[in-house]
Amino acid sequence: MQGLMMAEPLRVASIIEHAAKWHSDTEIVSRRPEGGIHRYTYAEANHRSQQLARALLALGIENGDRVGTLAWNTHRHFELYYGVAGIGAVCHTINPRLFPEQLVYIINHSEDRLLFFDITFLPLVERLAPICPTVEKWVLLAGPEHLPKESVMPGLCSYEDLLAAQPGGYQWPSFDENTACSLCYTSGTTDQPKGVLYSHRSTVLHALGISLPDALGCSSADVIMPVVPMFHVNAWGLPYAAPLNGAKLVLPGAGMDSASLFELMETEGVTFSAGVPTIWLALLQFMREGQRRFSTLRRTVVGGSSCPPALMKAFVEELSVTITHAWGMTETSPLGTASRLKANQQGLSADEKAAVLAKQGRAVFGVDMKIVGDDGQALPHDGVAFGDLLVRGPWVVRDYFRTPTPGELTADGWFRTGDVATVDPTGFMQITDRSKDVIKSGGEWISSIDLENLAVAHPAVAEAAVIGVPSARWSERPLLVIVRRPGMDVSAEEMLGFFRGKVAKFCEPDAVEFVEQLPHTATGKILKTQLRKDFAGYSVA
Ligand code: AMP
Repeated sequence: MQGLMMAEPLRVASIIEHAAKWHSDTEIVSRRPEGGIHRYTYAEANHRSQQLARALLALGIENGDRVGTLAWNTHRHFELYYGVAGIGAVCHTINPRLFPEQLVYIINHSEDRLLFFDITFLPLVERLAPICPTVEKWVLLAGPEHLPKESVMPGLCSYEDLLAAQPGGYQWPSFDENTACSLCYTSGTTDQPKGVLYSHRSTVLHALGISLPDALGCSSADVIMPVVPMFHVNAWGLPYAAPLNGAKLVLPGAGMDSASLFELMETEGVTFSAGVPTIWLALLQFMREGQRRFSTLRRTVVGGSSCPPALMKAFVEELSVTITHAWGMTETSPLGTASRLKANQQGLSADEKAAVLAKQGRAVFGVDMKIVGDDGQALPHDGVAFGDLLVRGPWVVRDYFRTPTPGELTADGWFRTGDVATVDPTGFMQITDRSKDVIKSGGEWISSIDLENLAVAHPAVAEAAVIGVPSARWSERPLLVIVRRPGMDVSAEEMLGFFRGKVAKFCEPDAVEFVEQLPHTATGKILKTQLRKDFAGYSVA
């Protein structure tokens, strides 16, 4: 027997429709890449998204066509999220920090028909245009006055001209909720990037899921600023969750440096933000240098890489800002877990609470998870046993776009994350490593993440990475690679001493090397494959 409730399909456009109707005067504020601040309301954002939808239809864009973006966090990128998906096409957000060869691969692989880009990327797209034959039209996300005098780009026009030619008043169509709405390629540190194709259903469910109080917790009382880019897993879903909840949205544009972020947070009254640890480490330094304080920021979500406990502690104690540690992947939309205390953990001591909150957290409803051993059997949730982390749920990838990868799913339908983790008896998951980064020393496993988290707690360390290097006796031993803070010094001996008594003896790094900078992926993670190449031939006695 079927239920007798309305079978209203979940659609992305229904989010902007809701915000335009019920939060019509709530603002979206964005820093324009071409200069200045732009400010308007959800009602106006809906109107312009509808103008965009009409423009796309006039250009012959059809259901399922891919429309690429090379853009920062701005109101125009927001309109693309809704305008493109709203007509049943696919908004393909491209990470401009990828290598040019990867960009060409991605654009050709997805066969983007249109490409919308910010003015910052003009020199880049001039080089891409001749080798991306599927792109029929390149659209500059600015007014016509910013168009170059000459260009090799087919059909080059300005976004503002495109919109100005269209009336609003478009009725968002209804269609199957499993229709694709957006596409994001993984950063691909080893293989070619692979596309994760989100559906309207997965996106709306994810937006609801991340809004929950124990997840990211969004409300109409919030002013939300995603610092995580809109080209990286849809800015963790915040451009959907903010209008869904009627929260004011603040988009920092190309200004991702600490001074620009701080200024915008203060002028717009940001209460809640989200981004990778690197952003917050830099911001902490900036706040300390100027003895600055936030007047409205209360919470931030940190994920994408392990959040060092020292960073969480400094934010709470020095800046009165709570960090929620969260874990996820492009393949999980991205939210999988978030670290929030349960009622029966409120009475723990401050140190015990900090230890729980430093973990990657509990499964959010919508993402089930388990850890398994090499034999595929589930391991106990005792906080000690560690194994491959598997996940499943309505916003977890089933397969990659045009790159069938059957091995990623187990026979019974779980996605292999490639992460190694423990789960404790209260359900808190902790990532030990990427499975490829775990160090195996004399049969024991050493977590590179634990050692990196400890290293960055040293005041002279700006960034740290740990990799396994060959050892005749133990097969592999940890090597610590460090970037020192400007103007600060620390010796290798002092650094090694810093670990004593803080980790098991066999986990202590064997050697320390100092470098000017560490290699990073396009999404800001430390590129360990490159680091292992840089230190190829290195061995410890
Ligand atoms: P991406 O798909 O580029 O977002 O990368 C996803 C990967 O980032 C995960 O599989 C993890 O290895 C890593 N990651 C994400 N969040 C965390 C976290 N909070 N702690 C440790 N690793 C994380």
